[in-house]
Amino acid sequence: MKCPFCSFLESKVTDSRTAPETNSIRRRRECLGCLKRFTTFESVDLTVQVRKRDGSYEDFVLEKLVRGLDAACRRTKVSHEQVLAISAEIASQVAERQREIDSTEIGEIVMTKLKSLDTVAYIRFACVYRRFKDMDELMNVINTAQFAVKEN
Ligand SMILES: [Zn+2]
Repeated sequence: MKCPFCSFLESKVTDSRTAPETNSIRRRRECLGCLKRFTTFESVDLTVQVRKRDGSYEDFVLEKLVRGLDAACRRTKVSHEQVLAISAEIASQVAERQREIDSTEIGEIVMTKLKSLDTVAYIRFACVYRRFKDMDELMNVINTAQFAVKEN
């Protein structure tokens, strides 16, 4: 991220939050060269419609995704900053693909991301997301997650 004052290429993020009215992530940055502060926005295509399980549609809302991921990642090694980063990645992946997307497909994308980040967060999200029919199904997810950790 290039500093708008001195063009230095390195900056640190001092604060990040979602801006719900624009589906974007607002970051306060401090230039490591001149120490001046500036703000950047990562925004998401608003034209994506999410098709829910019951067949109804709703707008893709970045803040909802961030809230869900924050809950799944609470007391894990995944930071809020990482949650914002993967949410932005997921959102751009969703936006690139098509004008509408199944909520289940978003869930799969989220799980793939979480799986590589943190096992506990992954299992928590999977528990909430997939409506488990029985314990076998839950154990399958846990086993897959442990397998993924061993691979790393
Ligand atoms: Zn600067």
